[in-house]
Amino acid sequence: MTSTKTVHILKTRRDGLLTTHPWVYRSQIGKITGDVKAGDIVQVMSPLGKPLGYGYYNEASEISLRFLSRNGAPDKTFFANQIQMAIDYRKQWAPDAQAYRIVNSEADRLPGFILDQYGDVLVMQFLTMGMERLRPVFIDILREKFPGKNLLDRSDAPSRRYEGLTDNVEWVQGKVADTVIEEAGTRYKVFFDEGQKTGFYLDQRDNRVFLAEAGIKGKVLDAFCYSGGFGLALAKKGCQVLGLDIQQEAVRQAEINRELNGLPESQICFKTANVFDELRELIKAGEVYDLVILDPPSFVKKKDAVDAAISGYKEILLRGLKLVREGGLLAVFSCSYHVDEFLLLQTAMSAAFDTRKSFKIVKFMKQSGDHPVDPFIPESYYLKGFLFKIMAT
Ligand code: SAH
Repeated sequence: MTSTKTVHILKTRRDGLLTTHPWVYRSQIGKITGDVKAGDIVQVMSPLGKPLGYGYYNEASEISLRFLSRNGAPDKTFFANQIQMAIDYRKQWAPDAQAYRIVNSEADRLPGFILDQYGDVLVMQFLTMGMERLRPVFIDILREKFPGKNLLDRSDAPSRRYEGLTDNVEWVQGKVADTVIEEAGTRYKVFFDEGQKTGFYLDQRDNRVFLAEAGIKGKVLDAFCYSGGFGLALAKKGCQVLGLDIQQEAVRQAEINRELNGLPESQICFKTANVFDELRELIKAGEVYDLVILDPPSFVKKKDAVDAAISGYKEILLRGLKLVREGGLLAVFSCSYHVDEFLLLQTAMSAAFDTRKSFKIVKFMKQSGDHPVDPFIPESYYLKGFLFKIMAT
């Protein structure tokens, strides 16, 4: 994989970040030498011709270059070591977890590569042209490190289009339709073909476990529930739960998960509904909850859509606040990097002001520990949330 192909970087205001951040945008690319094809590994040079390391290049992507190594040319041993470092990192987080993210792309210094474990199943995602080209190397390494595991390539993330790639879903080793995982006493069936992401929202694990163990009693509204993650964990602790999701398939999975946990429909039920409409109906019906959870999808993928996203958050927060009893709790999350902690809090404060309520922050929440936050890569901190205790003003 050693290469005489080089890409020079232009001097830019982001130079300070060049030694810490793996991305180089198209506008920062200067002279290119050698016959560089999409996804090739290239040596990266400073404007003055100093070698900076190695990365992969794809002109089609606005992020045209992603660093892989700040030292020598990356080879199979290099990638195997990076994966091993990621495996070791998880051992310090939740050694007993059955389902967790082993490799999280840039945050594990393997930009564009994701690896999730669900018991005996490993799910990979190759998100960039550079990583797609390295696919055979990664599959070799995983076969060696995890002999006997089922290996699925779920490379169907929409972001592949920015790289000039189409979807690819393929079992590389073994094959199973689904598997059951247990998370702090709650069981979930993970569906590999129909599931969102790689099958489950692993990034909410710490928050699901925290809320389930917080001693919450009474009525819970789990808005944007997907396969029942939060709601089931709380129902297991005796709460009365209503879960809402717009996707019929998500509700089907949530219902299977209810049965898997031996919970009656009278205690936890799921409904296919648009949360924006359903919250309004619940307010009209005079419903009141002890806990409302708002875990919407990323309303904003690109920076210029932040304003629209904020009005989406504001709307669900206004309605959510009306549905919480005085002294009750509201949990709200943003999984969009562009709606950061501060913006989310401000939006919640503005919604509280409009509804004549106030709140205290019971807990600052973030993505689970298997999705590391690297402060030198701000984009790696994408999921944040708050647990508020709601009071009258
Ligand atoms: N809380 C879940 C993850 C939620 S992901 C967990 O812990 O597993 C966001 C979910 O919101 C997705 O399942 C998506 O189908 C759903 N969704 C998106 N827009 C929606 C809307 N307007 N109304 C209801 N659900 C919606």
